[in-house]
Amino acid sequence: MAEFDYDLFVIGAGSGGVRAARVSAAHGARVAIAEEFRVGGTCVIRGCVPKKLLVYGAHFAEDLKDARRFGWNVPDCDFDWATLRDNVLSEVDRLNGAYTTTLESHKVEIIHQRATVAGANAVRLADGRTVTARIILVATGARPAVPGCPGHELGITSNEVFHLDALPKRVLIAGAGYIANEFAGIFNEFGSKVTLINRTDVILRGYDAAIRDRLLQISTAKGIEFRFHAEFRGITKGDDGSLTVEMTNHDPITVDRVLFATGRVPNTEGLGLEGAGVELDDKGAVKVDADSRSSCPSIYAVGDVTNRIQLTPVAIREGQAFADTMFGDKPWRVDYDNVPSAVFSHPPMAGVGLTESQARQQLGSVKVYQSDFRAMKNVLANRNERALYKMVCDGVTDRVVGLHMIGPDAPEILQAAAIAVKAGLTKADFDQTVALHPSMAEELVLMR
Ligand code: FAD
Repeated sequence: MAEFDYDLFVIGAGSGGVRAARVSAAHGARVAIAEEFRVGGTCVIRGCVPKKLLVYGAHFAEDLKDARRFGWNVPDCDFDWATLRDNVLSEVDRLNGAYTTTLESHKVEIIHQRATVAGANAVRLADGRTVTARIILVATGARPAVPGCPGHELGITSNEVFHLDALPKRVLIAGAGYIANEFAGIFNEFGSKVTLINRTDVILRGYDAAIRDRLLQISTAKGIEFRFHAEFRGITKGDDGSLTVEMTNHDPITVDRVLFATGRVPNTEGLGLEGAGVELDDKGAVKVDADSRSSCPSIYAVGDVTNRIQLTPVAIREGQAFADTMFGDKPWRVDYDNVPSAVFSHPPMAGVGLTESQARQQLGSVKVYQSDFRAMKNVLANRNERALYKMVCDGVTDRVVGLHMIGPDAPEILQAAAIAVKAGLTKADFDQTVALHPSMAEELVLMR
């Protein structure tokens, strides 16, 4: 008889948990995974995937307009939210099914209920059963944080935004991170009046200042209203269903929807972790070492619940490294240097490595190269919107330590260029590559 019911019990079937469960099972472990909502997790069900599909849908507003300059007789088109919403949700259903099938085909037992930690090797299920496992992996992700102002329950979060009955005519978005800016762009393209409010006057903290300034300028020109130093005082509902938001330093505003995009909190509440000796940090995230091991030797954690870098490919890598190390006899660790990321705004922005200000703080000497240009397509479309590419180099070694861009297809271009940055290539290496003309990406090898 085996000492434990399972070799591995994973709590949470999101990006990190599914990868860890599937690969551990492929390595021969007996694995169970508990999911309280839907297999696939935030990214697939209510994050990256449906968000990106809405971004594609939204961008047609510009493409249809620009098409006229390219000779197409585009009639006045209107947009039907319900069609896009339902098509996106059925794609989410398809992916949910695909993730479930992958787990099943790897003989991972899926337990569709909430699970909590009942001890170093014990998990309690919502139906009252307790099961045991040699290793427990906490992969419970994070959830939207909502400010505690009066009337906050009248607002929605990214969890609900994909299911709206109707497109709001006026929407207020609280926050200035990537989710806030992405939804500001989406709603604005669909024709909603968008007001984004933020406690400070900085959007997209952590991104290069020149790139985020450019987004602010373009977004403002497109009609998104930004209100800074605005802190929620409260929300009240009118007889007609409208919502009036009171905030510091600005007049109240009446809208149809309020979307909170004010950060994400690790899902550790009520999980029983402290009882098993698992230490949490001041944000409630599980504290882990470089092997994703918590302060309890049999309990590990990956993904957003550890609040390292809250991105899907990072959670997946952490899950893979965990599985290979624990059950595959192939120990390796995730390298957190030069993780690329993007904001799917209109236009999108993307970056990898050090921003100019980080490089100036960390390196003795820094050289910055820039290309500020109007994409050929935008010129013909009469679209007065300039792209900006920035290359940050170590002034002594010539090594490219950061690349930051805003412009059409920036995330697609940056993913390829990030390989060069990760490989430690120099500005001279970029310059030795012949330009691919005409393209936007050629600016990367032509920077002065
Ligand atoms: P999750 O994917 O959140 O999975 C955790 C799972 O655990 C969930 O399914 C949850 O229901 C389940 N769970 C929680 N507690 C329990 C319990 N006690 N018992 C059972 N099950 C439980 N990242 C990108 O890289 N690119 C993007 O473009 C991007 N866009 C995003 C857009 C939005 C709107 C949001 C909200 C996030 C976005 N992210 C994006 C972030 C990305 O979704 C997360 O980084 C990623 O999903 C983290 O994976 P995870 O495995 O840690 O957690």
